[in-house]
Amino acid sequence: MSEKSGGDFRYSVGESKVPWHAVGEFFNGADALELIKFLLPDSGSADYQAALTDAGNALAKLAEVSGRATKLTLGKKVAEAEAGACRYFGSKYACFTSNWTGGMEIAYKLAGIGPGDEVIMPAVTFIATMAYPLSMGAKIVFADIDPETINLDPEDLEKKITPKTKMIVPVHLGGFPVDMAGVMAVARKHGIPVMEDAAHGMGGAYQGRKLGSIGDFGGFSLHEVKNINSLGEGGILLTSDDFYGKQLSGGRFLGLDFSRKIKDWLYDISPLTDKNGGVQVAQNHSATEIQALGLILQMKRLDQIIAIRRRAAEYMNGVLSEEKGILTEKADTVDTYGTHHLYLLRIDPKTVGGNIQQLAAKLAARGLTNITHFGPMYRFKIMRDLGYNEHELAASCPRTEEMFYHSYTHLPLYPLTEEQLVYQAQAVVEAVRELKQGK
Ligand SMILES: *Cc1c(COP(=O)(O)O)cnc(C)c1O
Repeated sequence: MSEKSGGDFRYSVGESKVPWHAVGEFFNGADALELIKFLLPDSGSADYQAALTDAGNALAKLAEVSGRATKLTLGKKVAEAEAGACRYFGSKYACFTSNWTGGMEIAYKLAGIGPGDEVIMPAVTFIATMAYPLSMGAKIVFADIDPETINLDPEDLEKKITPKTKMIVPVHLGGFPVDMAGVMAVARKHGIPVMEDAAHGMGGAYQGRKLGSIGDFGGFSLHEVKNINSLGEGGILLTSDDFYGKQLSGGRFLGLDFSRKIKDWLYDISPLTDKNGGVQVAQNHSATEIQALGLILQMKRLDQIIAIRRRAAEYMNGVLSEEKGILTEKADTVDTYGTHHLYLLRIDPKTVGGNIQQLAAKLAARGLTNITHFGPMYRFKIMRDLGYNEHELAASCPRTEEMFYHSYTHLPLYPLTEEQLVYQAQAVVEAVRELKQGK
């Protein structure tokens, strides 16, 4: 193999009399069986042991005649996954990383985020969105949320822009598309780059464009809890900007730059350079070939999974719309095509006669899992310890406060059985009725 491109750590192997193998120690047939047992574990079925013995025998035979996996990281599968991502999302460049937190780190560096710079994001997201700017000593500025979608509100975004704003990070929370026309208009007017955190939005679309491909940067998480995964962890960073795109692979792997060579050396090391000439040091966010294979396999099912999720959300909407005081999720339109990663359950506390916390307790008592995972970020200890003023921030995001404490929670949609879905919808209706009766 002698592909030498970008910053991938690729080198010639296997062609000499004494080759320098890419892989130090190979995996054998017995190891392969263990990998299969991990992916297809014992269900307790009486037939499992017999089927496993058959598979073990077949694998032993296969191992006798097979070759060996000669590249385990940043090889052809990673390249194939990235080419597939470019086609599917309509972006010019894609970079597969060990996780999306790492992918975002590369984008933040390319945007030149450093100490004192301001990054605007919605008050409701996951800590990963702000991990890198926080660690750099940049200032996180929270925009309030749109009460219909709990996504970043473009009007409040504009109010929070200052001369120090260096990046805007909308988050397609729960897979529901952000008002990207609004966000991009504000961003372009002020000349600020946008990164879409589409961790939940993989495969969704806004005005005919795939989520993650609309901003200057965008990307997805392939962590096991997301709609599809790449064997547990993974991320994809997208851009269509040539200046940024050519630096992605270096940003993923320590700045190794095969396009430049210093004398008597295989490569050079380049920094990540922003558009003002500022430089930052790349870390290691490499993803393995096995992760890439996991992604390639699950990508094939992405549209189908979203369709099943959509039907589940429509079912929830159908049942819940019959009960006054429950606000159903915004349905998909020609403009906004969600991924239905989570079901956004909202109530009108006045009509219901109770708040979402009381409802959540009733749902939990009925055996429903509702996830209080996405709330106001300024409530965390780390923010206070870094000198953020929780009360001032809460006052600057009144709708976030009102909605989080009184009117929304998230419910799962997949992979629920028909029976679980029906039970969940009915349980919400019953719990709301109890609250109305003052129980
Ligand atoms: C999961 C998640 C991330 C982080 O993705 P990882 O792949 O786990 O690093 C970022 N933002 C949001 C909104 C997420 O839910």
